[in-house]
Amino acid sequence: MFTANQDYLKLPGSYLFSTVAKKTNAFIAAHPEAKIIRLGIGDVTQPLPPAVISALHSAVDEQANSATFRGYAPDLGYDFLRAAIAQTDYQARGCQIEADEIFVSDGAKSDSANIQEIFEKDCRIAVCDPVYPVYVDSNVMAGRTGEYDAQAETWSNVIYMPCTQETGFAPELPEQTPDLIYLCFPNNPTGAAVKKAELQRWVDYANKVGAVIIFDSAYEAYISEEDVPHSIYECEGARTCAIELRSFSKNAGFTGLRLGATVVPKDLKDRNGVALHGLWARRHGTKYNGAPYIVQRAGEACYSEEGRAQIAQMVGRYMKNAGYIRESLLSFGYEAFGGVNSPYIWLKAPKGMTSWEFFDYLLEHANVVGTPGSGFGPSGEHYFRLTAFGTYENSVEAMKRIQAMAL
Ligand code: PLP
Repeated sequence: MFTANQDYLKLPGSYLFSTVAKKTNAFIAAHPEAKIIRLGIGDVTQPLPPAVISALHSAVDEQANSATFRGYAPDLGYDFLRAAIAQTDYQARGCQIEADEIFVSDGAKSDSANIQEIFEKDCRIAVCDPVYPVYVDSNVMAGRTGEYDAQAETWSNVIYMPCTQETGFAPELPEQTPDLIYLCFPNNPTGAAVKKAELQRWVDYANKVGAVIIFDSAYEAYISEEDVPHSIYECEGARTCAIELRSFSKNAGFTGLRLGATVVPKDLKDRNGVALHGLWARRHGTKYNGAPYIVQRAGEACYSEEGRAQIAQMVGRYMKNAGYIRESLLSFGYEAFGGVNSPYIWLKAPKGMTSWEFFDYLLEHANVVGTPGSGFGPSGEHYFRLTAFGTYENSVEAMKRIQAMAL
């Protein structure tokens, strides 16, 4: 009789957002009259920019003609998109990244989960705490994380880097030396961002100890402050120590369309001189058949002049919500963070409530759904995440209800 992968069985409970959905649905079933406002899952709500829609239509029409029909896409991505990303996201920012160092994919979630496959099983990971849960869970599935301590909600072989109010929600350099360091700035869930000098410190550290930084830039379009890097390759020396994950989901509204890219510079080599670029190309070619042509054309449209203007407008609308939510919470006396370089607002649960207690309280008394901070890691306990991805009207209504909610 076969045996299922036992590493999967070590994962505690269900994925965070499945639990949020289950609890919300149970509440709705019991209170069908409730007008729920969802500020929980980080999903966009605005329609795709017109430039993207127009590119999709044209690319679809091409498929009706045998001269322009496309079958399998090149598994590493079409040159037109790889070139647009290299030029606009990197070279225009002074980053030395070439088109053939960019691997197009269906999004940053799958890449962030799959990238660990090109590293040995005994590599030690370091993660920010709290953090996007996929980084740890995918390493659990790969059998890299040791034993789970249910009390502490930590894995024995994972280095947790607490990101707390005291540290401005940024991690300190770890005492134990990791092999892989996951960094995500602007951060999900705390909304924190780091200045260039701070990120440079991480690049210097990784180069010194021989670690790889997996830098998730899914929210870079939301950066509003000067001197906050949009890419880790703005730092000197990042080509020899960093992989960067990019996503069109939050940057351009592609959560349903699906498109992302991962950058693996050719200079990034392990202790034996093995280039990770070749390994990721081999992995991609074996396990992935390429993002659809029509979607890659839609991605290309994000880099046109009109596409960029429309996306900036879209991001601006979400950031207006973020500012409103943040300022409202502060004025009600909540401790609230983020929302300046990020669509996430991170708040302290009032009256010493745990994250899940506040989740239930908010759902019951304000009919607002958020995300419990403890679901992102032990240091997230007593915190709570709200997103700015709803409509302005819903953001205003949610704040009105929170203000009216007796504590
Ligand atoms: N990375 C982070 C930090 C995220 O928060 C998310 C989605 O919420 C993703 C990646 C997923 O990106 P994608 O939709 O491109 O898979």
